[in-house]
Amino acid sequence: MSTDRLRSFDSSIKQCSTDGLIPVRSKSATRMRSSEHFLASVPVVALVLVSLGEQYDRVRLAFLGVYGLALGVGIDFDHFLLARVYAGDWRHLRYLLQNPIAAVTEQEAIFEDVRDMTLQRLLSHVLLGGALIGLTKRVSGSLGRLTAVVLYCHLLCDLLRDNHLV
Ligand SMILES: [Zn+2]
Repeated sequence: MSTDRLRSFDSSIKQCSTDGLIPVRSKSATRMRSSEHFLASVPVVALVLVSLGEQYDRVRLAFLGVYGLALGVGIDFDHFLLARVYAGDWRHLRYLLQNPIAAVTEQEAIFEDVRDMTLQRLLSHVLLGGALIGLTKRVSGSLGRLTAVVLYCHLLCDLLRDNHLV
């Protein structure tokens, strides 16, 4: 058996042991895409903005809207920090900086050579999210609320995908 086939077989065995009776899917198939996070963030951000509508003018609401949508997608940049830890260098981030379109078109392929980071990714989201909520709440209660709601939605989406529910 070739080395590649052996690695693939080993990877399948590990996947089976963690997935139980759930059909095996590649790790790239289980990761939620940025475009999906963006679409999930739109109604959530809109609801928060509607609830804030009487407190802020349109410019501030627009700023909050852009911030909320950017956060709903951008929190996944912690993957590059994790990849740095496990790969030992910044080649994934360098690749993205040289090929920014890859963030949308080749998102799953970027981290294919790094070990499965599912649990670490969720932990990182929780740690960074908690810090971000605390910081933004100090700036403004509304900003903190928006941050909390958007990050909750992002984490929920990640967990639903990781559990093969969506
Ligand atoms: Zn995520």
